[in-house]
Amino acid sequence: MKENGTIHLSMGIHNGKREQLIVVSVNPATLPEGKLKEIELAWDNGLYLAISYESGEFPMKHAYTNSAGVDMGEIHSIAAFCETDEALIVTGRKTRSIHQLRNKKLGELQRLMSKCNKYSRQWKKYNRAKQFVLSKSTKQLQDALHKTTKNFVDWCLENEVKQVFVGNPEGVQRRKQKKRTKHVNQKLSNWSFGTLRAYLEYKLHAKGILLFLVDEVYTSQTCPCCQRRKKVRTRNYVCACGYEEHRDIHGARNILAKELYGKMCHIPEETKRKYLRIA
Ligand SMILES: [Zn+2]
Repeated sequence: MKENGTIHLSMGIHNGKREQLIVVSVNPATLPEGKLKEIELAWDNGLYLAISYESGEFPMKHAYTNSAGVDMGEIHSIAAFCETDEALIVTGRKTRSIHQLRNKKLGELQRLMSKCNKYSRQWKKYNRAKQFVLSKSTKQLQDALHKTTKNFVDWCLENEVKQVFVGNPEGVQRRKQKKRTKHVNQKLSNWSFGTLRAYLEYKLHAKGILLFLVDEVYTSQTCPCCQRRKKVRTRNYVCACGYEEHRDIHGARNILAKELYGKMCHIPEETKRKYLRIA
C-alpha cells in the first residue's frame, strides 16, 4: 500500500514461482481510518476490494450483571428474554420476504435455463440474471440482518446485559439431519444463521457483552411449569397446566433458565413485551 493509493496485491507462490503482483489504484480518501490489516480482491457480480482494518476502538467497559436468553425463531428473527423480565421480539418478516422473492426468481430463471442448451447465448443471459439476483438479495439480506442485530444490541444495553446465551439451531440440525424436511431446512438456513451469529458476535463484543452458543434441545417444547413436552405450531405455547406464553419468548426464557438454573423453570410471572418490526 503506497501513499498515493496504489495497492500491490500478492498472488502468492505457484509451482515454486512467485506470481506477478496485481496493482490496484484507490482514492486514499475512501479508505477506512485505522491500521489496515488485509486487502483482498474479491468477486461479486463485479470486482471489489475487501479491506479489514483495526478501528482502534476498544470494547465498551461497563459493570452490567444481567443475562439474557436468545431464541432464533423463523428465518432470522431474534426473540430474547432478560432477567429483568423484559422480552424482545424482532420479527424476521423483512428477511423472510427477501428470501421468498429470491427463491421465486431463482426458480423461474432455473426453469428457463433448463430449456436452453447449456452455455448457449440465452443460457448465459439467464445465468447473468441469476448472479445479479443472488448478489442483490444477499446485500438486502445483510442490510436487514444488520438492522435486526442492532435492535437487539440496543435492547441489551438498555437492560444492562453482560452475557447472552444463544440457542444453537445448528446443533439440532446435525442431530436430526436425516429426518428434517426441506421446509424446515429452509427456515434454518445455514447462511442466515451463520451471518446473524457473526454480526451478533462482533457487535456484542464491541459493547463488552459476552455471547455463548448453547444447546437449545427441547427448549421450545418443554413447559417450564410442569415439564411436559409438546410441539407448538401456533403463535402461543399453551400447556394443559395453564401456562401460556408467546412461542418465541417461551423458547428464549427456557434457554435462559436452563443456563442460569440448570433446568427449564418458570422465571418471572409477567413479561413486558416489546415487539419490534423491522421495516
Ligand atoms: Zn405445563
